[in-house]
Amino acid sequence: MFSAPKGTNDLLPGRSGRFAAAVAGLLAPAARAGYKLVDTPVFEETGVFLRVGESTDIVTKEMYTFEDKGGRSLTLRPEGTAGVVRAAIEHHVDRGPLPWKVRYAGQMFRYEQPQGGRTRQFFQVGIEALGPEDPAIDAEVVTLAVRAFEEAGLPNVTLLLNSMGDEACRPAYIATLQAFLRDNAAALCGECRARTETNPLRALDCKRAECQATLAAAPVITDSLCAPCKEHYDEVRAYLSSLGVAWTEAPRLVRGLDYYRRTTFELVHGGLGAQNAVGGGGRYDGLAESLGGPRLPGIGWALGVDRTLLALESEDAPFEDPEAAEVFVVPLPGGKDGALRLVDELRTAGVRADMVFGDRGMKGAMKAADRSGARVTLIVGADGGVELKHMDTGEQYPVPFAEAAARAAAAEQRDESIEDTP
Ligand code: AMP
Repeated sequence: MFSAPKGTNDLLPGRSGRFAAAVAGLLAPAARAGYKLVDTPVFEETGVFLRVGESTDIVTKEMYTFEDKGGRSLTLRPEGTAGVVRAAIEHHVDRGPLPWKVRYAGQMFRYEQPQGGRTRQFFQVGIEALGPEDPAIDAEVVTLAVRAFEEAGLPNVTLLLNSMGDEACRPAYIATLQAFLRDNAAALCGECRARTETNPLRALDCKRAECQATLAAAPVITDSLCAPCKEHYDEVRAYLSSLGVAWTEAPRLVRGLDYYRRTTFELVHGGLGAQNAVGGGGRYDGLAESLGGPRLPGIGWALGVDRTLLALESEDAPFEDPEAAEVFVVPLPGGKDGALRLVDELRTAGVRADMVFGDRGMKGAMKAADRSGARVTLIVGADGGVELKHMDTGEQYPVPFAEAAARAAAAEQRDESIEDTP
């Protein structure tokens, strides 16, 4: 007996409809905003990721790296941005019209310790906007993340916002932070003491309560921004205010990868426990150059679909499966041929239709019809006689075989319109 590898989940019917609806909802606002679909490989040359996060856990500890039969070192992507920017450089998008606005959806892989809401394979949707450093595009990207959750049925997410400065002002801040961490080393966990030397910013999002208590007094980056970074951040916030997008200042919010500059943000949901981030993103102006490309500033986000689903389930939000059958067909003995023809006719006409298979007997067949959620059932006999049943009212009457599909489709719509009428 095999089971799915540790840290992975099977997505099965029952949840998969909601998952697909979440993916579609999350990306719809971005699609309307001109973010075109891209698809890059699930694995990249390992160097692509090494360049973007040499001092981060994601890159140093969590990558699925392997050698292929040709002796190449490849890595399953732990996130989407590096691959998209690699592709943008390879295909010279900087020579074309900018911004280059794209969206993606796909599996990501991180060798993490699995827990609720944290798996080793998970699904993200994301967008990237490459080109302008204009704060207006930061505002567009951040707003689209908020709209994404609204459209997926999750309006209750909190937007956390910060600026991480840039090459001009961050080094001085890091030195100040490092001095603070060294002074307070006795009150920090071993991991934070190690981070003090390797990646002091990461100490800021240590989850341990005793570290958090100490870090509450740590200097914040927003007090150290240089004039251009401060101006950029002020403009982004002014645009967001004018768009009616609410946020919480999070001066200790740092992101997991080295390449972030200036605007960074995260979206959290209250129903998820420790792993409460449903999405995050930020500006990465130095990334293209660190991958060997031209200067090509960018900003983007990635939203976790698995956690979005958990958050929706935690809210008990109502969900109507857009793939549920509208019409169900039950063959009486000898009626299978007629049933197959009717479902085919309905499906060809654009109606979601299904039928009973196997010899279940009338009781089992009507139970299957009930369970399908269809509003209308057609019961087909050997002689081509058909009865149409409204599942809500139980009303049932004969219809001619030749008209059965059209009558069922019309009845289904009528039932729907009756239900929709207040
Ligand atoms: P990140 O690139 O780490 O900011 O991830 C963006 C989003 O992807 C997070 O907010 C989560 O919703 C989701 N995510 C990240 N890592 C995992 C994981 N190991 N398991 C499930 N979802 C994840």
